[in-house]
Amino acid sequence: MQHSENHDAVEQLLARYHAVCGEIAGAASNAGRDKSAVALVAVTKTYDGEAIAPVLEAGHRIFGENRVQEAAGKWPALRAHYPDIELHLIGPLQSNKAAEAVALFDCIESIDRDKIAMAVAREMKKQGRTPKLFVQVNTGDEAQKAGVATGDTVAFVERCRNEHGLTIDGLMCIPPVDENPGPHFALLANLAEQAGVPQLSMGMSADYETAIGFGATHVRVGSAIFGAR
Ligand SMILES: *Cc1c(COP(=O)(O)O)cnc(C)c1O
Repeated sequence: MQHSENHDAVEQLLARYHAVCGEIAGAASNAGRDKSAVALVAVTKTYDGEAIAPVLEAGHRIFGENRVQEAAGKWPALRAHYPDIELHLIGPLQSNKAAEAVALFDCIESIDRDKIAMAVAREMKKQGRTPKLFVQVNTGDEAQKAGVATGDTVAFVERCRNEHGLTIDGLMCIPPVDENPGPHFALLANLAEQAGVPQLSMGMSADYETAIGFGATHVRVGSAIFGAR
């Protein structure tokens, strides 16, 4: 009984995963883009290694976590079996966690102030690691939300390059929950163009197809794959 319930849950998980992959391909095609230009970052926060395993076995390798400590507790063991995992930090980073984040993640999507840029630059030098770096932009300029203000984004990317010696590969945003996300995705794409940044991490379970229409190169999808948290 226990076994077959678990089997059903795995089947449903894989069905949701393949459905999301299909939606991504469809949205890319509708936008006249190649599906290989859109990476699915499967967001695994709150889910443990056992819950994630079926998606790894299906061949998926790009994952996102929003807390350094939680990621440190589960990904080293999974990496031992799947060394080609690409792990993204998508949540806020404190400078006292910079060393751990640089050691653990292949992409840090939440660079949003000089103090963090400096701490990450120092650790990259020290550890000889070069995670990809995205700047998080607070496209709604919401008081409580992480991210660089829209008006500071281009200057901040330039400071990351010129003062902190960092290569910024992309911009990331989380639109306000109660607003139409389209204008936020358009704004992020526009800022990326102004700043000369090639990649765009935008779109979550509710709006990743819209984001692909606005040029997302990375969509961060959690609950549509793994279920409600
Ligand atoms: C949790 C989270 C996601 C995924 O959200 P879903 O709505 O479950 O797809 C994406 N991005 C960030 C930054 C998150 O924290």
